Amino acid sequence: MRTAVGDAHVLTDPDVVAGQVQDWTGRYVGSTPAVVRPGSVDEVAAVLRSCADARVPVVPQGGNTGLVGGSVPLHGEVVLDLRRLDRLDPVDALAGQVTAQAGVTIARLHEHARAAGWDYGVDLAARDTATVGGTVATNAGGVHVLRYGSTRRQVIGVEAVLADGRVLRRLDGLEKDNTGYDLSGLLCGSEGTLAVITAARLRLVARPTHVIVALVAFDDVDAALASVAELRRGLDTLRAVELFFQDGLDLVCDRLGLARPFAGRHVAFVLVEAAARTDPTAELSDAIAALRGVSDVAVAADTRAARQLWRYREGHTEAINLLGAPHKLDVTLPAAELSAFVREVRERVTAAVPGALTWLFGHAADGNVHVNVTGVAPDDDRVTDVVLQLVARRHGSISAEHGIGTAKRAWLSLVRTQTEIDTYRAIKHALDPNQLLNPNVLIPSENARGLHG
Ligand SMILES: Cc1cc2nc3c(=O)[nH]c(=O)nc-3n(C[C@H](O)[C@H](O)[C@H](O)COP(=O)(O)OP(=O)(O)OC[C@H]3O[C@@H](n4cnc5c(N)ncnc54)[C@H](O)[C@@H]3O)c2cc1C
Repeated sequence: MRTAVGDAHVLTDPDVVAGQVQDWTGRYVGSTPAVVRPGSVDEVAAVLRSCADARVPVVPQGGNTGLVGGSVPLHGEVVLDLRRLDRLDPVDALAGQVTAQAGVTIARLHEHARAAGWDYGVDLAARDTATVGGTVATNAGGVHVLRYGSTRRQVIGVEAVLADGRVLRRLDGLEKDNTGYDLSGLLCGSEGTLAVITAARLRLVARPTHVIVALVAFDDVDAALASVAELRRGLDTLRAVELFFQDGLDLVCDRLGLARPFAGRHVAFVLVEAAARTDPTAELSDAIAALRGVSDVAVAADTRAARQLWRYREGHTEAINLLGAPHKLDVTLPAAELSAFVREVRERVTAAVPGALTWLFGHAADGNVHVNVTGVAPDDDRVTDVVLQLVARRHGSISAEHGIGTAKRAWLSLVRTQTEIDTYRAIKHALDPNQLLNPNVLIPSENARGLHG
């Protein structure tokens, strides 16, 4: 390793690597013999070759903002820190694309695209730390999926290193290239199990110059949920629709010291963002005026106020973490099941673990609810089981956007058939026969076969 990357980039002091063996929530803590920080694709290849020779398993890591315990070494793996791969090529203005190395943060990518008159379609609260490599590896969603799709939709091609050190490179940026298996697409959402992503060729989107944000309060969950489809139908500049509840708003205001947005108390809140080349304020006001069951509205008049309204929603993750390591269950439901799920899930959680607190928020237009539960021991899986079983019964998915990681791998069979899981295993075996790349995530261990199915 030291020969491959230089002494300064092999970290072994437990104090120095402490932040890299623990996940963002604090629920998953492991240990590592070394954090290795390659500075080029050739160095990544050299590290993986030596790990393959010595049969040492590796956990690729970007910003370590993942929320399913997939980015930390749970059983003494080497951590491959990709953040030194931070080259960002000039925007290709003719193609509307850019090539970014794996360690570039999403915030830096936004700035870079915007400076060239473009924008990048994926945005999330972890933008200052989450990386291109990590977001491709998890197929991250975020707040603009409604308009631009998740990360997979932005990826035209990737450069990646296989477990044996060979390099796959498809960064030529061809929008149409129908030549067999889509290997870049396969790596989107592969959670570091198939290859180490070192760069991605990304599609850019038009940059809206006017962004208007409103927070709409409801006293009825069904009215709040119904408003989402109405906004999608009536507002063609719609870019984000987020959902949260009064208990979450109270927590965010108390813990993060924010002023309350409304004088009165309500049940549910829908945060709406409209973005366009011309001012969409009038259109947004008309759309909100046409909604049924609205109790109050706050509209942000400027960028600062817009950021403030977003903080009520984006502050949830941070405020909940201040209560102690949460169990994070990021799920998605069919639109018709969402209302019943929201009503039922709190009761189920409390019945399973009395005293546990359930916090709900999410990306409403995608049917994506982040079920966060606090007051449960990190290794107590009862809540995970109850919530994921409920999701499966209601024909949802046990992972909307965070991935399976280590947190949900034992429940994969709730939503994937044995044939699908066997196919995952066959793909894994073909690309990583010695099971060296992120062995603790995604694919259930053989002895878990059929556990839930
Ligand atoms: C406050 C907050 C808000 C968030 N909001 C959202 C949201 O709205 N939507 C959403 O989807 N997620 C969200 N997340 C989760 C997280 O930010 C995403 O999963 C993100 O994609 C992780 O990127 P990362 O660089 O931090 O990856 P890491 O956490 O370092 O790694 C995540 C996974 O990807 C693998 N990996 C990382 N880099 C590579 C690479 N170069 N090659 C191969 N595998 C790699 C790791 O092994 C791990 O399995 C949020 C997290 C936080 C803390």
